[in-house]
Amino acid sequence: MSKCTVLIIEDEKNIQTFMGKILKRHDYRVLYADTGAQGLELLRSQCPDIILLDLGLPDMDGDDIIREARTWTSTPIIVISARTAEKEKVLALDLGADDYITKPFGTSELLARIRASLRHSNRLRTNDTLYLRPYRHDGMVLDFSKRLLKVNGAVIHLTPIEYKIVAYLAQNSGKVITYASILSNVWGPYADDDNKILRVNMANIRRKIEDDPAQPKYIFTEVGVGYRMAEDEEEAEV
Ligand code: CA
Repeated sequence: MSKCTVLIIEDEKNIQTFMGKILKRHDYRVLYADTGAQGLELLRSQCPDIILLDLGLPDMDGDDIIREARTWTSTPIIVISARTAEKEKVLALDLGADDYITKPFGTSELLARIRASLRHSNRLRTNDTLYLRPYRHDGMVLDFSKRLLKVNGAVIHLTPIEYKIVAYLAQNSGKVITYASILSNVWGPYADDDNKILRVNMANIRRKIEDDPAQPKYIFTEVGVGYRMAEDEEEAEV
């Protein structure tokens, strides 16, 4: 099996080195760029499998790299961002980034984000039946073909809208999904961009699936950005 190539576009050397070491230890091939221009050049010449992108680069905004990259490639992009920059994260995701990771982050979080994004892009490419294999996590099973959700063996009755939300998040498990993306996927492209209807539905979903809705273990809130469903167990091993 050939190694997955990760392109790290990041001007802070210590973060670059930290990520590079982890990735090499987990058998990824790593390319480094200190500037946006270098990053775009490596993206074109090396066709990496995934990009880790810092938004604050010396020569250009990370957003401009996402815009430029998305004119010709769907290579997954994970944004490396500062803790408090919700608006930046949402903009980057809406421009076509696949996910983000917030500094400071740990090894397992970085690897999980990469796995989830690679898996999602492989699915889109091959359009294989993985989509139809049930989602499983810690006692929850969602069978897409039967539209059936069970938690610890008990059938959970969801409204059609609630089902659409859960299924969309499960198909993208491990990845953050923005409010706007959920609204347009569930309610259609002309959906109101008011999150209230989504929050109401999410509260109802959590009451049905979580032991303690205030401490969710299946669907997590990414404050100011959207929701992230726990990574599919079977795929977490891959
Ligand atoms: Ca920086």
